[in-house]
Amino acid sequence: MDLGSWISRRAAATPNLPAITFTGTTLTYGELADRIDRLAAELAAGGVGQGDRVGYAGLNDREFLVALFASARIGAVFVPLNFRLTAPEMSYILGNAGVHTMLADTERAAVVEQVRTEAGLQRTIAVTEAPGWEALPDLLAAREPLAEPVHPDADEVAVIMYTSGTTGRPKGAMLTHGNLFWNNVNALLIYDTSQQDVSLVGAPLFHIGGLNVTTLSTLQKGGHIVLTPTFDPVEALRLIEQHRVSTMFGVPAMFLFMSQVPEFESADLSSVRTFICGGAPAPKALIERYGQRGVTFVQGYGLTETAPLALVLRTDEVDAKIGAAGNQVLPLSDVRLVDAENNSVPAGERGEICVRGPQVMAGYWKDKAATDAVIDAEGWFHTGDIGVVDDEGYVYVVDRVKDMVISGGENVYPAEVEDVLFHHPAIADVAVVGTPHDRWGEAVTAVAVLHPDATLSLEELREFAQGRLAGYKLPLRLEVVEELPRTSSGKIMKYRLRNQLAEP
Ligand code: AMP
Ligand code: MG
Repeated sequence: MDLGSWISRRAAATPNLPAITFTGTTLTYGELADRIDRLAAELAAGGVGQGDRVGYAGLNDREFLVALFASARIGAVFVPLNFRLTAPEMSYILGNAGVHTMLADTERAAVVEQVRTEAGLQRTIAVTEAPGWEALPDLLAAREPLAEPVHPDADEVAVIMYTSGTTGRPKGAMLTHGNLFWNNVNALLIYDTSQQDVSLVGAPLFHIGGLNVTTLSTLQKGGHIVLTPTFDPVEALRLIEQHRVSTMFGVPAMFLFMSQVPEFESADLSSVRTFICGGAPAPKALIERYGQRGVTFVQGYGLTETAPLALVLRTDEVDAKIGAAGNQVLPLSDVRLVDAENNSVPAGERGEICVRGPQVMAGYWKDKAATDAVIDAEGWFHTGDIGVVDDEGYVYVVDRVKDMVISGGENVYPAEVEDVLFHHPAIADVAVVGTPHDRWGEAVTAVAVLHPDATLSLEELREFAQGRLAGYKLPLRLEVVEELPRTSSGKIMKYRLRNQLAEP
């Protein structure tokens, strides 16, 4: 079940079927397997050994997937980075993961270049080209394919995916070959993926949703991936028509944007079997809008740490249960809701959503304390989300224990933003919360107490934080207040701020 053999086995069965179409060029399974084995040989020749980390920073690209499988082929660990990160943010992750060889597209290479020494990188390879970097196309042309692949066990780590933590620093979720494999079995069983499927992939591959909901399962099944560098709603509609796309994973914002362009009305969506939406709750109006065009949705709930599927709402059940995150009948994993004492709560009562199954991560990289805080002795992973389950087993996500903001499908951890904003000379005290936003679902909102006589505008604040925080983490809204509401122990009452600010 090791990730490295997924494509080679598929290529042996169906070498001439299309595997990945990217910017107008299609690789068959045979060609993809060959490319993977050339890069695997190159990485190994450059000193990447079993268990060593290979980093990747860039927009979606077929070479992302080539690098993922090539790393697995030699038993190395693949570390994808969010392409929006600033140099200091990247430096932390590269250093924490101990990345040996780094691949990046041209724009990201310039960012990585600033921190290559402090991050301890041994080798840098440009996906196409970058000043002073080795170029992937040249390396692949000169290298013979790997002769003897490594076959890691199911419990060995295949991918470390960084997800921000409540403490402000991102943590590396260790996903094993088994985690990725079993999530795919869940996906294949739920979505009935077939070799005839054509999946449009515009969600970022560095996120588990973009990588492991339709992308890897479609490839494992021998279907066809149509990959785009980023998500563009008009281009997406065009590709759906051109390639007779049958499925696509996206966060709600992507489907929303697609439904708002003028081209939507006349677009031919007749090839679409189902759209799969996750990462944040899908608004009812959105599901209905697509329903009018004959497109059904599968709504999914999951996390990086669960690789990601945990709850799914099937197409044929959507009507009655719109708004639910899903029910508890995922074929290969269990979900339960617990109270503060870790006892199951009955239907109708609030509880923390916990997930157990073969797709739950091995833990956080080099952080046992953080791992122990989320995976209990019985193997239940505590999600930090609060849900309510109804009589029929449908779970509704109603709140989060973790103070996380989800803006346009990107998670933002207030602590990380607060750490930066605190340094602004006008700010005496600050809290960051999410407030409702038409376009992005939630807006990163800074609630600030200013020093006497100080003034501050949103623009000034954003300018200050730029360069230290990725763009999607910058506040979209600033509220200046006299005082922040605190508990007797001094903790900011964020739920109170959220409620106050939810009203326009
Ligand atoms: P990530 O690790 O980036 O995939 O983020 C996981 C978090 O996204 C979860 O803990 C939830 O808070 C949120 N999330 C994912 N899917 C849904 C959903 N369908 N409904 C509500 N929240 C969701
Ligand atoms: Mg997410």
